[in-house]
Amino acid sequence: WTPAGKRPGPDSLHVPRRRFGQNFLADPHYVARIVDAVAPQPGDNLVEIGPGLAALTGGLVARAGHITAIEIDRDLAARLRTAFTPAQLALHEADALEFDFAQLGPELRVVGNLPYNISSPLLFHLAAHDALLRDLHVMLQKEVVARMTAAPGTADYGRLTVMLQAKFRIARLFVVPPGAFRPAPKVESAVARLVPLHGEKPAIADEGLFARIVAAAFAQRRKTLRNALSAVCTAESLEAAGIDPGARGETLAVADFVRLANRVAPLR
Ligand code: SAM
Repeated sequence: WTPAGKRPGPDSLHVPRRRFGQNFLADPHYVARIVDAVAPQPGDNLVEIGPGLAALTGGLVARAGHITAIEIDRDLAARLRTAFTPAQLALHEADALEFDFAQLGPELRVVGNLPYNISSPLLFHLAAHDALLRDLHVMLQKEVVARMTAAPGTADYGRLTVMLQAKFRIARLFVVPPGAFRPAPKVESAVARLVPLHGEKPAIADEGLFARIVAAAFAQRRKTLRNALSAVCTAESLEAAGIDPGARGETLAVADFVRLANRVAPLR
């Protein structure tokens, strides 16, 4: 990695902005582990969300040659422009939640130490572009990764689990302690890898209906499916899909939700 100018880092003053979830990774051990987990290759279509002070960016650029990045903070974007040449870094000063990832595809490899306050909406936004993605490596609050990788019947299993596991194979790679960041967050983090299921993805007839059923099933976790889903389907539809109307949403596998949504779709 040959910086075009001065590398942004702890030596250059930047007051972390809490509203942008700025906890900067400062431990070279974890920087190296994340970059190794991504294993960038020259020519990869890499996009980093929230490069910040470039902890990961340098290693990604060094291995891939060129990456794209999306950073919302104007001051950090200005620093990044002086630290990398346009040939190394295509920088979009933008909100990743609003960003149209279709303009960067296909075979996108997304990397991000994501701002925790927007992690769920950002994952949903990326999931909407799953056809364009090759993989995602994201650092999140450890509890969020537990929800993403949860099994049915557990407390962590919920809407986020079902919506993401319907599209991705998800693995927790390793935990990162608060002391690896400046400033240190109050919670532990974990790095997860998401690989789109693509050809193995269950066919969902109506994605909007599927999302509504999943949301309703977990809106009040203690309700039976008969009650929780009364606005979207009848007890007969549940039974016809092989699902006990007296069960709770948290006991259903992802495949059960897909089967139910596909059975209800033609009736609407
Ligand atoms: N990648 C850096 C690292 O590992 O040290 C910074 C991580 S920091 C947790 C999150 C970064 O995402 C910050 O640089 C922040 O400004 C940026 N960010 C926050 N909200 C964003 C958004 N909606 N779109 C794009 N970037 C955002």
